[in-house]
Amino acid sequence: MDLKEHIRGIPDFPKPGILFYDISTLLRNADAWQVAMGRLAHAVAPAQPDLLAGVESRGFLMAAPLASKLGCGFLMLRKPGKLPGRTVSVDYELEYGQDSLHIQADAIRPGQRVVVVDDLLATGGTLAAAIQLLQKVGANVTGAAVIIEILSLKGREKLGVPTSALVSYE
Ligand code: IMP
Repeated sequence: MDLKEHIRGIPDFPKPGILFYDISTLLRNADAWQVAMGRLAHAVAPAQPDLLAGVESRGFLMAAPLASKLGCGFLMLRKPGKLPGRTVSVDYELEYGQDSLHIQADAIRPGQRVVVVDDLLATGGTLAAAIQLLQKVGANVTGAAVIIEILSLKGREKLGVPTSALVSYE
């Protein structure tokens, strides 16, 4: 199955000039969603994760079912003010401005193997920050996985861990 047939590019979202790759159409097609999760599970399994870390919010949609399929745990990397208890954070640059990701301070036992999951890899800023944050709390980050990679932005070069993508666009 060509998963690209289930992903739409929506022009001028969220701003004029941006082409937004929308996975909503993939998520709501039972067969395509099943195939995508199967392929991601196959791609991530060699990294032998103890935990999958999902990046808020679309990363949660992939990471939680995938963790269940692989028989490993799931944890959330969230925007500020969302996680209860003590958190550790990392700031990162967006195209316009800054954002930060948080993790619960006790989310990882030292040396646990973690694969980070999001819907899309563009510049790599988000996943690089996620990896940095996981390492800060003692994780052994053994991989990254996304549905979509934008090749021209060379985001995977920022990550420093084996990275899997199901489909790519220039
Ligand atoms: P990066 O930090 O530049 O790699 O951008 C990746 C982050 O932005 C991910 O968390 C994505 O969810 C989001 N993102 C950027 N472009 C798109 C898009 O075209 N479709 C869906 N998400 C996107």
